[in-house]
Amino acid sequence: AKRTAQKNYCFFDPALHESLKKRFEIESQLKDAINKREIVTYFQPQVTANGELQGVEALVRWNHPDKRLVSPIEFVAVAEEIGVIDSLQRVVMEDCCALFRTLQSQGRLTPNFRVSINMSAIQFRNVNLSEDLTQLFLQEGVAPSFITLELTESMLVEEIDGAIKQMQALKAKGFRLSIDDFGTGYSSLAYLQTFPIDELKIDKSFLDKMDSANIGTGIIDTIITLAEHLNFEVVAEGVEHQGQLDYLRQKHITAMQGYFFARPMPAESLYEWIEDDLD
Ligand code: C2E
Ligand code: CA
Ligand code: CA
Ligand code: CA
Repeated sequence: AKRTAQKNYCFFDPALHESLKKRFEIESQLKDAINKREIVTYFQPQVTANGELQGVEALVRWNHPDKRLVSPIEFVAVAEEIGVIDSLQRVVMEDCCALFRTLQSQGRLTPNFRVSINMSAIQFRNVNLSEDLTQLFLQEGVAPSFITLELTESMLVEEIDGAIKQMQALKAKGFRLSIDDFGTGYSSLAYLQTFPIDELKIDKSFLDKMDSANIGTGIIDTIITLAEHLNFEVVAEGVEHQGQLDYLRQKHITAMQGYFFARPMPAESLYEWIEDDLD
């Protein structure tokens, strides 16, 4: 088919201009921000059905000097595009190691405590990933078995053979593996049982659909049943109400995470939270 000559509409859209400006700002400042330690890691508790602390998820933030806390939704993809994602992930991993050291010195590090780290798709494609991560954590005195790596379905289905090899290499080093936002992507059931993973995370969007009469729990129940069959643990994300907690409590669920228990917080606040929670 022949294409007609492209028309150049050139009117000014203030909203678009604003978002491009913001985007440019992030692009130009992010690299410096990483070096200047403006990138900080927050931690959100994961709690068992009995109310015990199971672990935390590490969630990155940008503590912008003249602004607010910038959300990872605004800068993680930019970090990938401009090639600084590895140094950003490194900051997160080092912050996790510091958390372990402090918990250990406080006598609060139980053998089954877990720290979950969100992996970037770019990182996941690195053929040396398992070696690199093992070296980093062992150097900091942290056994890989304390670390859960959160992968998304899109990382796994893109190139399945490579993904399985990568997962096997990470498992061989002792890392736990989790599929994040489970149910929102397209991993087929046939593949799911060949993945050497330990955990599924039920995406918040499914909990959002739950109402006070527990209508909308179909997908949640299905994921939990599936996980039982495949011997995966289950973590529910985005628990905001007592009703959701009560519902999930009667199910086979490993842990829950959400504003109902605690928001993501800096390490110092987490230590206080643990103290208040346990004493
Ligand atoms: P995610 O991995 O799905 O993380 C869960 C998000 O839900 C977090 O948003 C968390 O703060 C939020 N959340 C948890 N509980 C609740 C709740 O009860 N209610 C509501 N409304 N929200 C809740 P956050 O911290 O803004 O992170 C957004 C996304 O950015 C993450 O989604 C993850 O995909 C990405 N991300 C965060 N940290 C990192 C990182 O260190 N590396 C990479 N590659 N990506 C990261
Ligand atoms: Ca996650
Ligand atoms: Ca999610
Ligand atoms: Ca996610």
